[in-house]
Amino acid sequence: MRLIKEVGKARILNPLKGFELEEQELERRFDPLTGFSTIVAKGRFQYVKRFFEHDEQLLRKLAEASQPTCPFCPGKVEETTPKFPPEMVVEGRIKVGRCYAFPSLHAHSDLNAVVVLGPKHYLSLKEMDGNLLYEGFKAGLEVLRSVHSANPSLSFASLIMNYLPTAGSSIIHPHMQVLASSLPFNYLRLLLAKSFEHYLNTASNYWKKLIEYEEMMGERFIGMHGNVAWLAPFAPSRHFEVWGIVQDNSDLLSLSDMDLRRIAEGLAKVLSFYHNKGLFSFNFALYASPLGRPLEYFNVIIRVCARLGLKEPFLNDFWAMPALLMENEIVELPEEYALAIKQCFKE
Ligand SMILES: [Zn+2]
Repeated sequence: MRLIKEVGKARILNPLKGFELEEQELERRFDPLTGFSTIVAKGRFQYVKRFFEHDEQLLRKLAEASQPTCPFCPGKVEETTPKFPPEMVVEGRIKVGRCYAFPSLHAHSDLNAVVVLGPKHYLSLKEMDGNLLYEGFKAGLEVLRSVHSANPSLSFASLIMNYLPTAGSSIIHPHMQVLASSLPFNYLRLLLAKSFEHYLNTASNYWKKLIEYEEMMGERFIGMHGNVAWLAPFAPSRHFEVWGIVQDNSDLLSLSDMDLRRIAEGLAKVLSFYHNKGLFSFNFALYASPLGRPLEYFNVIIRVCARLGLKEPFLNDFWAMPALLMENEIVELPEEYALAIKQCFKE
């Protein structure tokens, strides 16, 4: 495992320090698999922390105003949401525990289902517990199982979540989305291609090597939770990014119930770290091999990151650098937040 970083310096005469010469250290790290670089502005979190905070009052106001017309609240979710055609899902909608799954009214992919996470219109990240997330994941996988058996060409799938408007969600009520298509999504295609390349060149699975390496090094390794390894990546593309890697499986359809539970529980722990850190908004995405086709060189991976808070002046972290230059910047070292998340995994 070759971890490459380059250290550069920005030099300014700082007006806040009487125009004294200041050198700001910027580290550029490269992801060992994809080569994507990230600029690490060490210690800048304190300075930008205010952009991650939420305006509690505004959030409450938005939650209250949107509740009466929310399509995902009890009374509406089981009556007025779209249904799958009977050849896909006989009952029209899927229910697992407190979670409902049904097709999205405005599809973003050949298959696009919504999984509503329970009856509560607003949940803090502390309230998104492992059981609820497990029920949501299970409902999502049932959708994939049904749809894939009705249409096997829809084999490239993902489960994703946007929580709160700053993470891209137009609806406050917590929900995941299930996507599947006959072609892989761009980033999944890149991961599959790079993982295969690594396998051809070294006859080994990159993700297993990564787990072994990070566990040995320890500084970014959060811990094993059952069969799922949790770690902070060396060159995170997004804020407070964390990966969960299922050790011996790449196929969502053959994932054991226990592995699914471990993914949900681990995710809940990461979310509880975000809550403690004052981060309220997040995204996650799951990556896997084509449905029903386990691959030697790939694994089921969940990637989760924090997004900015809902607060005036409504800053967006998807500015020109990531949006158009595809260059990323993070404001806290992965080694530092990995240490704090490790504590959450012990609780
Ligand atoms: Zn609702």
